[in-house]
Amino acid sequence: GAKSAFSLRDLVEQTSKLLLAELSEANVVLHSQIPAGLPPVEANRVQIAQVIVNLVRNAIEAMSVTDPSGRQIVIDAKVSQQMMLVSVQDTGPGIPAGRELFSQFETTKADGMGLGLSLCHTIVEGNGGEIWLDRNGAAGACFRFSLPLAPTRT
Ligand code: ADP
Ligand code: MG
Repeated sequence: GAKSAFSLRDLVEQTSKLLLAELSEANVVLHSQIPAGLPPVEANRVQIAQVIVNLVRNAIEAMSVTDPSGRQIVIDAKVSQQMMLVSVQDTGPGIPAGRELFSQFETTKADGMGLGLSLCHTIVEGNGGEIWLDRNGAAGACFRFSLPLAPTRT
């Protein structure tokens, strides 16, 4: 697919609008803390929307076992070493150790396909970035991915 330069902040805002019904159904509050004025990334916009949807859906599903009053997703981004670093943090129970999270068909859900994170991995790498589990514990999981910044003209 074609790559273009776009604002990650705008993409997260648009994507979270598509997820509003799912979020409110699950009593989850999503906060984007992405600052205005970050430089654009260069990637396939539709694919990166899919990555955000997958990570947010996993977070929603993980928090279904927690107290509804504390269900929160925070999305943040910053520039580090010429890459955009995006984080998706939840207040779920975290991820059990020793799982091949990014492998196909790796799922703990009775009705799970185990394809979401595998697809995220393929998409992010195809766009020149990386994805990893950044923090994990009883306070929740935090996934991070990186994307190249759009080249700047001088
Ligand atoms: P699926 O959602 O179909 O199970 P995924 O590839 O999206 O497949 O996720 C794989 C597994 O990783 C999930 O079954 C779950 O055990 C774990 N996981 C993913 N995201 C989270 C999260 N935010 N919190 C806790 N566990 C998670
Ligand atoms: Mg999933």
